[in-house]
Amino acid sequence: MTSRERRIADFIEAFRVEPGSKIRLSRDFDPAFRGTIHSKKEGRRLLAEGIDLLAEYQTRLYAQHTHGVLVVLQALDAAGKDGTIRHVMTGVNPQGVSVHSFKVPSSKELEHDYLWRYGLQLPGRGEIGIFNRSHYEEVLVVRVHPELLERQRLPRSARGKGIWRHRFHEINEWERTLSRNGIKIVKLFLNLSKEEQRTRFLRRIDLPDHNWKFSAADVREREYWSDYQRAFSKVLSRTSTEWAPWYVIPADRKWYARIAAGAVIANALMEIDPRFPTIDSDARKALLEVKNALEAQAPKGAAADPFEAG
Ligand code: AMP
Ligand code: MG
Repeated sequence: MTSRERRIADFIEAFRVEPGSKIRLSRDFDPAFRGTIHSKKEGRRLLAEGIDLLAEYQTRLYAQHTHGVLVVLQALDAAGKDGTIRHVMTGVNPQGVSVHSFKVPSSKELEHDYLWRYGLQLPGRGEIGIFNRSHYEEVLVVRVHPELLERQRLPRSARGKGIWRHRFHEINEWERTLSRNGIKIVKLFLNLSKEEQRTRFLRRIDLPDHNWKFSAADVREREYWSDYQRAFSKVLSRTSTEWAPWYVIPADRKWYARIAAGAVIANALMEIDPRFPTIDSDARKALLEVKNALEAQAPKGAAADPFEAG
């Protein structure tokens, strides 16, 4: 591990939800936390470093082609999911990345089991897939608004008292299957304070260029703040696993959230540690034959092989 990698691994420890621990958001995580980073300037440098690292690893992830990375982003409205995606992914090759935003399920989606539509959007090997909202909505918004569960047309036997316990178990098992098969799952919860959400909504109202982001529905959803805090606390307590731990990202400062999210994603790639494939001696021999043929075609005055040193 290089010292840069060590620094990143140490930095993200504070955000990790220990599997099996019982979380109460209001007590355990501070949305305004900024640890030892004191200035935006220092933050910008770190973010740039993280972005470089991501780009470097993404190329190798693609070349190795055995693993994919699924980034799960969950948060309340105005926590900065979109901005985080935009900033963290600036350096990576768009060909290797997909972003999928999950909205209220369509009637076609409701014809299927609740995990179906998420499975359809998973990243393939070599890819980084980002879920802007995810299967966790099925134990968050659906839990806070029971009428959404009604629309899922579940058989009576699947609607009983144990439904959330069952869903947590099913989600954990689904994620375990994926991770055993090479899909590394990175789960980020952007943790925003109620007061910061209020000022961000006001900003969307006050700045004309931001009006488009404002949604009256988001403000109505704010009335369920404490229900969401409870639902998130349960999700974090029950679905942070060794194979797919949650990270709680302090989101009251956008610049800090971006560094932290970038670091967690970079760390996941470091753990995969993808390498450029090397070739065996037969394949190497075949390459050398082609090389000789190409060198023989050099026009007068041109170097036979300009890449060959000496
Ligand atoms: P936005 O991300 O602001 O475009 O809003 C998407 C909306 O879709 C949010 O209000 C989510 O709560 C809602 N949503 C996402 N997934 C689900 C789901 N599985 N069931 C019900 N509503 C959902
Ligand atoms: Mg919204």
